[in-house]
Amino acid sequence: MKTITSITEMQREAERLRAEGLRIGFVPTMGSLHEGHLDLLRLSRRHADVVVMSVFVNPTQFGAGEDFTLYPRNPERDARLAEDAGCDILFSPDADEVYPPGASTWVQVEGPDAILEGTFRPTHFRGVTTVVTMLFHMVKPHHAVFGQKDAQQALIIRRMVRDLHMDIELLVAPTRRDPDGLAMSSRNTYLSESARAEALAISRSLRLAQRYVVDGGRDAQALLRMVSDELTRTGALIPDYVALVDTDTLEAIERIGTTPVLLAIAARVGKTRLIDNTILRAETIES
Ligand code: AMP
Repeated sequence: MKTITSITEMQREAERLRAEGLRIGFVPTMGSLHEGHLDLLRLSRRHADVVVMSVFVNPTQFGAGEDFTLYPRNPERDARLAEDAGCDILFSPDADEVYPPGASTWVQVEGPDAILEGTFRPTHFRGVTTVVTMLFHMVKPHHAVFGQKDAQQALIIRRMVRDLHMDIELLVAPTRRDPDGLAMSSRNTYLSESARAEALAISRSLRLAQRYVVDGGRDAQALLRMVSDELTRTGALIPDYVALVDTDTLEAIERIGTTPVLLAIAARVGKTRLIDNTILRAETIES
């Protein structure tokens, strides 16, 4: 596995690979890798000749008072895991090079960036779409892989790629969970044992919602009430939102029908903020 930190070197390498006719797959991450990230890498591997993973803790997607400085960083372990999972190039640019003094250009997907996560993190998606655009210009991938775990992010990036006519295919990998149901996240390392046990209410409530639909339940309000009750039962979890929305528009829906709907949750346990989701539809249920 090759490690690259210089942006120009990454661009030259990408041009060389493209000139050889090789397909470049790309997996952007903020590092502190877990099996969810590695699933993305493995999916990319199946569709590409060369897989690039970036590890970059992007300062502009953190709001004031969020966990940018605390965010777990583990470069040696990341390099080992990435290489073992089949990564060809690990790209870790320096923040000073990504955002040189005076940089003032933003890429923003207006509308879907202002709801759900955007209500609580108003500048978050602007930071994500800006850095992903820059990373696309650096890595020049044929495809890029994102996780369903961050469903709103995947939707916003899909919209950005469409609106800006980017010639990049997007792949979305399912959410990887621990055996007890907790969605894997680099932020899970913040959780104490007891907070982690409380956090299980999130995946438990998603399973309750799936059961509700399998059993014939169709009413959005009843489902949302049930999920909120499960989340708040012990008082340890504080939901930021519980939303049932159209998977394409993120608009709230009233009844669960045959088109897929996204049940999205954000909740805080202590100082840690967790998000999770599932897709529900009347006939078949996916996790
Ligand atoms: P992050 O490093 O948390 O910014 O995530 C990098 C990529 O990994 C994003 O596309 C995430 O959606 C994806 N990802 C994070 N956690 C998971 C998970 N548990 N399962 C699948 N993909 C994930």
